[in-house]
Amino acid sequence: MARYVGPSCRLCRREGMKLFLKGERCVSNKCAFERRGFPPGMAGQGRPKVKEYGLQLREKQKVKRVYGVLERQFRGYFAKADKAKGVTGENLLIMLETRLDTVVTRLGFATSVPQARQLIRHNHFLINGHKMDIPSYRARKGDVIEVREASRGLASIKSSLDRVTGKEQAGWLALDKEAMKGTVTDLPARDAVTLAVQEQLIVELYSK
Ligand code: SF4
Repeated sequence: MARYVGPSCRLCRREGMKLFLKGERCVSNKCAFERRGFPPGMAGQGRPKVKEYGLQLREKQKVKRVYGVLERQFRGYFAKADKAKGVTGENLLIMLETRLDTVVTRLGFATSVPQARQLIRHNHFLINGHKMDIPSYRARKGDVIEVREASRGLASIKSSLDRVTGKEQAGWLALDKEAMKGTVTDLPARDAVTLAVQEQLIVELYSK
């Protein structure tokens, strides 16, 4: 599966917000967005006026980048969200939020979606007792995600879990820290998606 391999911090600067793509670094004073919050290549030029199409495009790019999904796959999600019952924009966000790499991050097994993706690809997790190495797997209500026995000593997973306080835990997930196991207790509602995005703009963009 193709993926973006360029500099992650550039994406945050481009979108004008922190996308939290580099785990611990994002909450340290090394964060590039904190130090240079202007768009790449625009030092001292100020921001040009953004027109309607530009706003819609930026919202789409922001969502794609936060969830680490490329254009083709994103269009696929949009088509499914459009066909499903309910509000298209909300369906889209919920589909992305329930991707396994995002769920693993929300549970606290990884500090960022790119790190979660790598851990999943390296086969460190079981879903309902079975091996799962597909980051785009869509978690369902009742799914149990656990760290494989052989991977429980992995420093990156342990240190990530150490930072979980429970306060930031998503309400639709339950984590058993000791057992390194998480359960999807429900599917998330729109307000459980904390990303500041106007999904309606994405719907308008694709409806042209
Ligand atoms: Fe974005 Fe994290 Fe880089 Fe900061 S450190 S610019 S939040 S990816």
